[in-house]
Amino acid sequence: MVNPEPVKNRITAGSDMDYVGICPASALDGEPEGRRPSDMLPGARSVIVFGRKLIAGSVQAKFRQIEDGKTNVMGSYSAHSFVLSLNHLCMNETYEISQYLENTYGCFAVPLTNNVLQGVQPEGCYVPFFADPLKAGLPVDIYKAAVAAGIGEMGWNHRVLTPDSGPRIYLCAIITDLEFSEYDKPYSGDRLCRPEECGVCARACPNSSLDARESEQWGDGELTCRVGKLDVNGCAAACFGFLKSVNPAASVVVENPHPDDPQLEAALKKQFEAPGFQTLDHLPMFHCDRCMVYCPVGDWDVKYRQTGLSGW
Ligand code: SF4
Ligand code: SF4
Repeated sequence: MVNPEPVKNRITAGSDMDYVGICPASALDGEPEGRRPSDMLPGARSVIVFGRKLIAGSVQAKFRQIEDGKTNVMGSYSAHSFVLSLNHLCMNETYEISQYLENTYGCFAVPLTNNVLQGVQPEGCYVPFFADPLKAGLPVDIYKAAVAAGIGEMGWNHRVLTPDSGPRIYLCAIITDLEFSEYDKPYSGDRLCRPEECGVCARACPNSSLDARESEQWGDGELTCRVGKLDVNGCAAACFGFLKSVNPAASVVVENPHPDDPQLEAALKKQFEAPGFQTLDHLPMFHCDRCMVYCPVGDWDVKYRQTGLSGW
């Protein structure tokens, strides 16, 4: 069995990660067949989860888009907080850490894709990964591994909340057959999300895709909690910018703000065929995220409240 501390130090000091936690692979035994760590790596013993905080200035740019309609600053958020640079940075670091594990311990390390589509087939149609990780095509639900590894608590907004940065984080994971001498436990600090007192995420949701009162079960076993009832396709319509209320410049619009799969697929097909449509990230899914950027957990008050925000 391996001492987890040198591995964690390598990840934080060597790869500059802000978060790291390790859970036993069995924490995801309740996942559907094909989405358990042992389905990807026979003999899997552990899942290592790590990640970075979003850059505050880039989140600030997102507020300028939402609050002031300054769409020209959206690139800062989409490129640096949503996918592009974070995706590349974390993919590269996931590779480096995997190779370090294999070279140092002679184990297998399966680096996972960590956010939107990277050569995966979604189940149904495309949706944001936080809204439905498996439908979005993530091989393993990294959020479940993150909660099992003590990185944070699951919020009403379907995001992992950390005590210091709330949900404004980006997570990656590696499955390995290494067995550690100790594992992290799920977060047990002060409760971070109190939807009955807060409700900011549901109020900020532009098309009522996230219910303020009705909840649904998230996770199983000791990970079980209640999160807000989410209309996954409605959320996808907002994130893809198919709603004028979210993306006033939208050239592709869905008539039904809560589309079914065929309606969402039709809009996506039109989007792909739109003249001048180009994105390095395959699909522009960065148009909303209000339930993440406005969540007051962590350093939100200090970093953002004084920057001219409306009173969510
Ligand atoms: S905005 Fe409030 S209710 Fe929503 S996830 Fe954050 S803390 Fe929970
Ligand atoms: S991303 Fe936007 S549409 Fe989706 S739940 Fe959050 S606030 Fe609502």
